[in-house]
Amino acid sequence: MVTSWRPSHLKLRRSRPLPPRQEPAMPAPQCASCRKARAALRRPRSGQALCGTCFCAAFEAEVLHTVVAGRLLPPGAVVAVGASGGKDSTVLAHVLRELAPRLAISLHLVAVDEGIGGYRDAALAAVRRQAARWELPLTVVAYAELFGGWTMDAVARSTAGSGRSRSCCTFCGVLRRRALEEGARRVGATHVVTGHNADDMAETVLMNFLRGDAGRLARGGGLGSPGEGGALPRCRPLQLASQKEVVLYAHFRRLDYFSEECVYAPEAFRGHARELLKLLEAARPSAVLDLVHSAERLALAPAARPPPPGACSRCGALASRALCQACALLDGLNRGRPRLAIGKGRRGLDEEGSPREPQPSGPPASEPIPGF
Ligand code: SF4
Ligand code: ZN
Repeated sequence: MVTSWRPSHLKLRRSRPLPPRQEPAMPAPQCASCRKARAALRRPRSGQALCGTCFCAAFEAEVLHTVVAGRLLPPGAVVAVGASGGKDSTVLAHVLRELAPRLAISLHLVAVDEGIGGYRDAALAAVRRQAARWELPLTVVAYAELFGGWTMDAVARSTAGSGRSRSCCTFCGVLRRRALEEGARRVGATHVVTGHNADDMAETVLMNFLRGDAGRLARGGGLGSPGEGGALPRCRPLQLASQKEVVLYAHFRRLDYFSEECVYAPEAFRGHARELLKLLEAARPSAVLDLVHSAERLALAPAARPPPPGACSRCGALASRALCQACALLDGLNRGRPRLAIGKGRRGLDEEGSPREPQPSGPPASEPIPGF
């Protein structure tokens, strides 16, 4: 029998964790706007303490200012809202619905079904719930119907093993842009809006820097494109709103949105830009908006302007060479040569003898486009 050498009164006892020190509870500060309610948040950029109601009102007023000052949506506009079910497009649709009477615009949700099993169906269900709750018309356009049976899952299978599977987003971005335009035309829209926020735009600027893509950097500024070459005018009313505030708005308005990530997203280059941006923002809180504004200033550089757009010889869409980017990618897929169709940037498309579609000022379509 093993006996302890310690006298029993000296036996070690397992120390109990000390109860947490009770700090005297600090009451939340008063809302800096209404001075009645308690503040529920501090605005990430300004540090201003606001209650939920005043924050949502300020957020909506800022989007209204972006739209009015930028003359993005004229009175009478029929606006197709790119709806993915994610937080950005959900917040955009909700804010524009609030502002629609003041802007004198009408809204139509347009959702794109890329054909991504286990992902898009659930996201589309969220869009359908939103449309029903907000009594907004909804139109869904599908890749399979628009692009000769190609779904994103079929594209992924076709590129798998070619060492290019990470290029799913390259195809998807180009095709989704086209699908959204087609959906908007079907509903008689005069304008297209997408839910890109400031963080999305800053990531895009970073990616373009990292690729040394001067042409896209030059086109990346501004709040939208005026609709060159017969394309519908596009804009991004949330482009100056930070991701954190978009999430806060969704929270305080209790919006129902789909928050899972696409199965192909982890392979995308955008994820690296996102991580880099987080590090930059931790060191310099203004980094996101600085990058967005730097793109605006770069867009003024005349040397980097793209060539004047023409029309695709196959579908008539905006193109700077014989085929637009969507037709070039589909051409490569149909010929069983997706690698050549999606090579790295300019070189890959040139290998196919295919054009590069100018994208007047939208984010490049070559990476996942969060929440539309
Ligand atoms: Fe398409 Fe976005 Fe998925 Fe990429 S992450 S495949 S762009 S839906
Ligand atoms: Zn308040």
